[in-house]
Amino acid sequence: MARVFNFGPGPACLPLEVLEEVKRELPEYLDTGMSVMELSHRSRDFDKILHASSDSLRRLMNIPEGYRILFLQGGASLQFSAVPMNLMKNGVADYIVTGYWAKKAALEAARYIRVNVIASSEDKNFSYIPNLSTLNISSDVDYVYICQNNTIYGTRFPFLPDTRGKVLVSDVSSMFLSEPMDVSRYGVIFAGAQKNAGPAGVVILIVRGDLISDDVPSFTPTLLKWKTQADSDSLYNTPNCFGIYVCGKVFNWIEKMGGLKEMKERNEKKAQFLYDYLDHSHLFKGTADKDSRSLMNVTFVTGDEALDKEFIAFCDANGLKNLKGHRTVGGMRASIYNAMPYEGVEKLVLVMESFERAHHL
Ligand SMILES: *Cc1c(COP(=O)(O)O)cnc(C)c1O
Repeated sequence: MARVFNFGPGPACLPLEVLEEVKRELPEYLDTGMSVMELSHRSRDFDKILHASSDSLRRLMNIPEGYRILFLQGGASLQFSAVPMNLMKNGVADYIVTGYWAKKAALEAARYIRVNVIASSEDKNFSYIPNLSTLNISSDVDYVYICQNNTIYGTRFPFLPDTRGKVLVSDVSSMFLSEPMDVSRYGVIFAGAQKNAGPAGVVILIVRGDLISDDVPSFTPTLLKWKTQADSDSLYNTPNCFGIYVCGKVFNWIEKMGGLKEMKERNEKKAQFLYDYLDHSHLFKGTADKDSRSLMNVTFVTGDEALDKEFIAFCDANGLKNLKGHRTVGGMRASIYNAMPYEGVEKLVLVMESFERAHHL
């Protein structure tokens, strides 16, 4: 069985070079005589892996000195709880609700603090990013929360909102490392690794040092307190050692490929090719507003559910996998993360053209 083009939203495709390297090192990692899975998380060898991964990420994203990088567990979803617990002072925050994940984060935060939804695109099934120039940010909020790329709806913030000096928290799970980011504009950035950085089971948190505090509500679980994790260098308990190791390999791969600027160019080229086709197609139609389109998740429909289903089966037979859209949007979604080569998108467009020729009356 040859490798397929995997358009899944996450867990998602990883660079083949990384998989080959992991395979080579699997039974005996360097001179340890064992695999990374068997290394003690307290060993010098693992300590080196952890620091190499962290250093590589810091170089890639140009993360300023004052920010900490933490490798945590519980997925991006557990940070939905950790964010309000660690940042609450006045006990109120503003949320911009642009999709399923932002809504879930807002609902979770509302269990602990007062949540103002200051903008939402739910009226049109989250197909656009709301107007960011008319936001009503209150003076007493502890932070402003966004989900910067909406995996399910194929939208991305075209620019960052002006938070009037308030801490900006961003869930970047599905756009992490896809383009350069100015980290200094954020208080907190987090991403589940399984979209664009590695295997499932690791969540990467980048947090400004002054936001890491002992002053959290007494009900905050020890493991959810960022201070616990920061003080122990992500080693308070056993971390996802193997996952962190693979993430480090992916970071190295991106550095070798030319870094985030290069990733952005490649990703723009891939997305442009697919969107150009969608904009000219008589059969397929993009579902996201043009101004809000994601570089990573491209959502589209034919407008006929039975035809969508037939198209997905046709893709499947052609080695193009996991194109089914999320149940709340229907249709198709092509997730074209860093590891998806241009050839994958080319093949997808070819298959779409041939399907369109056969089906458009
Ligand atoms: C996938 C995803 C999540 C959920 O991640 P888990 O690691 O499964 O908790 C949250 N936010 C965004 C934007 C996602 O794409």
